[in-house]
Amino acid sequence: MKDFIVSARKYRPQTFDDVVGQRALSDTLKRAITSHKLASAYLFCGPRGVGKTTCARIFAKAINCMNPLKDGEACNACESCMSFNEQRSMNIQELNAAANNSVEDVRAIIDQVRIPPQLGKYKVIILDEVHMLSASAANALLKTLEEPPSYVIFILATTEKQKILPTILSRCQIFDFNRMEIEDITGNLKMVAGKEGITYEENALNLIAQKADGGMRDALSIFDQVTNFSGGNITYESVLKSLNFLDYDYYFQMTEKLVEHQVNAAMLLFNDIVNKGFDGGVFMGGLASHLRNVMVSRDEETVALLDVAANLKTRYVEQSKKCSLKFLYYAIARCDRCSNEYKNAYNKRLAVEIALIETAQFNEDDTSGGARPQKTLKSLFRDTNAPAAVATAPVVTPAAKPQAKVATQPAPEAVSQAKEPVKTDSSIKSTVPSPLPKISKIAKIKLSTSSADEKPRTSQQPVESVQEPVQIQTEQPAVLGEIPFDEKQLLYYWQQFAQSLEPEDHVASMRMQGLDVLLKEDELVEVHVYNDMLNKLILPYIPRLEAYLQRQLNNHKIHIAIKKVEVTEEQVVRFNPRDQFKTMVKKNKTLGLLQKDLDLQVEL
Ligand SMILES: [Zn+2]
Repeated sequence: MKDFIVSARKYRPQTFDDVVGQRALSDTLKRAITSHKLASAYLFCGPRGVGKTTCARIFAKAINCMNPLKDGEACNACESCMSFNEQRSMNIQELNAAANNSVEDVRAIIDQVRIPPQLGKYKVIILDEVHMLSASAANALLKTLEEPPSYVIFILATTEKQKILPTILSRCQIFDFNRMEIEDITGNLKMVAGKEGITYEENALNLIAQKADGGMRDALSIFDQVTNFSGGNITYESVLKSLNFLDYDYYFQMTEKLVEHQVNAAMLLFNDIVNKGFDGGVFMGGLASHLRNVMVSRDEETVALLDVAANLKTRYVEQSKKCSLKFLYYAIARCDRCSNEYKNAYNKRLAVEIALIETAQFNEDDTSGGARPQKTLKSLFRDTNAPAAVATAPVVTPAAKPQAKVATQPAPEAVSQAKEPVKTDSSIKSTVPSPLPKISKIAKIKLSTSSADEKPRTSQQPVESVQEPVQIQTEQPAVLGEIPFDEKQLLYYWQQFAQSLEPEDHVASMRMQGLDVLLKEDELVEVHVYNDMLNKLILPYIPRLEAYLQRQLNNHKIHIAIKKVEVTEEQVVRFNPRDQFKTMVKKNKTLGLLQKDLDLQVEL
């Protein structure tokens, strides 16, 4: 049986024409050869696996070829070419600076080029990963670069150009290698499959190219792996399975659910994805990339940026017609944020679900331009069972603190509006929630408040935006009405009050913001506390708070009752860092020992 040679080596390009996806760059190099205008140092920059070292070797061979072709390619037949192809040429020295980065390593290789070449005209030194050289090694290199022997050509290669000393950069002719396009990689894989007698589905090779992220070497090694896995017949299914790759179709489906505000369906689809064993963070990253592709498909100019197989392009363009730019901007940013925060999320699944819920609730008419999730929610659920789906997902996690405040909002609203029929995207604009009663309410409030600079109240105001302290007046304005309000409005002013407390009330303020506040019948505001200490802490603020809510909501019947409730573990966790730590120790004893050994304190 033949020894197996990895495809990346077996099919390493031997000529510039074989090099995939770097046409402009190879043409420039060939022109340099035919016009005999060679620089003494080149710098090849670009991502890994895009052909930097391969091009350096082809270049070294071509400039030493005894019978070069007219277009600058090596003949691959002369003695010099043969010695290159058999890897016994003395005219090429390679050093990988990632492994050999000392000044001695650089000196050793420079010493080897002191003797002029016996065969051919040039000695070529390829320094791979040159950004990894130590400072002294880089200086030694610089000296030689300043006064190189006429027959020496340096080719430096790096994935990180910005780390190269400017003094070195200035002595090199710089070539930027691009990531390879999916279609180029797919084309090359087809060539290899053809030569190896491997059958394939076009979609399948496309998936491999995607996974390789622009690098041919990676693409070929994945190709080898899948070939082994699938026994020489590469199908779309076999690639999905062996690469643990999520079918594009999921991304198309998810985007459709999100843009159509189908929270339920999005949650179920995500459940499906999780059940298939996919990681939520990877999914969110993939979804962000998918949405980016949808965005560039909207415009004829940017559609060129769509780097996917031809058969997928039409699908992207079709989906892009259903998504507004505002939605896409918001969705891309939200999904990207989630995939970044995923690693540190306390409840990873929930982190993804919140991102999906918020994206599905994105509203075109949001004046914040999509910078934050819309707080005025449309009806989202198809049936009355739906709110339960939200309720089963506890929306507050301690690890997702920045989201906690926001996250407490959607559930009650969703519940309160659940009975309304589902509105489609197009109908939303025409059914902006009844502006008239709201305007009249605002007018009344303006009349009833003595402070002129107080902000008018609208339900559009997002909770998050309340940054500046609000002036709180204890004396009541003349007459208060009995304007109905909902829990969302209540929570808004509750948070506003808590956030406006003086710095010395910081602890109370924090606690208040984390409390469960429910709106009961007859304007009763029920506050849940979990222990006496919390009760004592909150109690003194209640009269002021009551007056504040009455005034802000223009309803004199508002009254607050504190209710002591049993604390669930989850509530403990979100309560304070010390309790959080206790819960963590319960789960992992080592943590407690560590705290004792190192005498660590949990900061409140
Ligand atoms: Zn030759």
